[in-house]
Amino acid sequence: MHLARLAGLARMNAPVIVWFRRNLRLADNPALADAAASGQPLIPVYIRDENTTGAASDWWLHESLAALTRSLAERGLRLQFFAGRAAEVLPRLAAATGAGALCFSRGYSALAIAEQDSVECGLKTEVHAFDDTYLRAPGTVLTQEDRPYRVYTPFWKASRELGEPGRPLPEPDRIVVDPSFDDVLRSLPGYCRLDDFRLLPTRPDWSGGLRSAWTPGEDGAHARLELFADLVAHYADCRDRPDVDMTSRLSPHLHFGEVSPRQVWHAIHDAAESSRAAAGAEAYLRQLHWRDFNGQLLYHFPEMPVVPLREEYGRFPWAPDPELLAAWQAGRTGYPIVDAGMRELWATGWMHNRVRMIVASFLVKNLLIPWQQGAEWFLDTLVDADLANNSANWQWVAGCGTDAAPYFRIYNPVLQSRKFDPDGRYVRRWVPELARLPDTDLHEPWLADRMTQRTAGVSIGDDYPEPLVEFAQSRERALDAYRELRSLVQSPAVSPGSSAG
Ligand code: FAD
Repeated sequence: MHLARLAGLARMNAPVIVWFRRNLRLADNPALADAAASGQPLIPVYIRDENTTGAASDWWLHESLAALTRSLAERGLRLQFFAGRAAEVLPRLAAATGAGALCFSRGYSALAIAEQDSVECGLKTEVHAFDDTYLRAPGTVLTQEDRPYRVYTPFWKASRELGEPGRPLPEPDRIVVDPSFDDVLRSLPGYCRLDDFRLLPTRPDWSGGLRSAWTPGEDGAHARLELFADLVAHYADCRDRPDVDMTSRLSPHLHFGEVSPRQVWHAIHDAAESSRAAAGAEAYLRQLHWRDFNGQLLYHFPEMPVVPLREEYGRFPWAPDPELLAAWQAGRTGYPIVDAGMRELWATGWMHNRVRMIVASFLVKNLLIPWQQGAEWFLDTLVDADLANNSANWQWVAGCGTDAAPYFRIYNPVLQSRKFDPDGRYVRRWVPELARLPDTDLHEPWLADRMTQRTAGVSIGDDYPEPLVEFAQSRERALDAYRELRSLVQSPAVSPGSSAG
């Protein structure tokens, strides 16, 4: 009886570990809410294993963790950092503190699943896992035959038929704090400070452009969401225009879980008061569901980041070329819209969706460079680098995804530039050496005569490169490669002949 009471008393103070992963927020955080509702002291933890993220994401992660540290500190809590494998850190931590439960948000990549499985195996405490990374947990929206959706529109319809996502949870109103655990944690292997993760660039510090473009963290995410909710009426008409700032730019905030998809869903849904805003909101929520679609693709096809989902593309006759790849990465292809996009990416860690499609198409079709090499560069340079979204979109552009644009749809960068950046504002901003060219020449500067170049203060071939490849020729080469693939696999499914313009 006495022992049982003691055990009960010990359990009364047993802390709950909140393992933060890609849910770096306080509001609508079911793991945090569940832990707080226990009435036990909380131990918030972030664990970093070996470096698996790109440089721009590392920068974001550092800033986001710093913001979360501050928010938790305002509630009296200290975010504890550990380096090492979660499956080793968490059991040690639980044993040393007598923790009664672990709460966390589930991930769906192969790595995240392996990580959480091994944590669950190694822990003797209760484990409470939550699904809040997507509107619907991957694996829950299935066809009538219980198979994953491979095509987007039926997925989007099926997901919508499930009704509105649940209302977001508020921040927990009461959190129990017990600083006496701090000393115990400090003595554990792997304990470290945020700076010890070395996420920030050192010499040279290239993060200036990122710092001026973004405010990582929950407050920054909500500021962005509020701003966008006022603009959503323009989304349907303007979302394809890189020259106007009319998309939400929430992708990195969503990736790191500084705002949850259901917070975004409800904020945008509620903002649709007029019919124009309703059309904008509809278009927006459709895009947001692409994120869910890609998340479930990665869950069902974990090899998606490297293996083409349409198997036959494993035999595509790519022509890898390090010099062409380097020119593309540096924004020196000679095609202004491509170069503008690649320079925007380098400077800010982000690129407009339409331009992502143009630069990706240019790499895999006009340069015949394997899509995996483009995807890798994006993963290193995007602040919203996301394994599911990135690989699914690269496969979409390359024509080898489940619901992909056909390979023979080859964007013409000049026509795309004229159509989506008609006044050249986007190109002029990111390729300033061309800024003084007249609109007629801006999108294909190699056609500007010498006098025009001189007046505009630019010499094509010296200050700005000649095109790396001639568009029509490279398009033909791509179509030949595609024909070669078809003859290899004898797949009559699609036929070349139309360009995407
Ligand atoms: P908005 O237009 O405001 O859309 C709202 C949200 O919907 C986005 O934040 C995003 O979460 C989601 N969304 C929009 N479009 C897509 C899409 N095509 N696929 C999946 N989700 C979408 N997005 C990433 O988040 N991470 C990536 O690593 C990534 N890599 C990409 C690579 C290529 C080659 C291409 C063509 C697209 C990629 N995208 C990626 C998708 C898309 O470009 C970005 O999500 C979008 O540009 C982010 O800007 P936004 O938040 O202003 O988007």
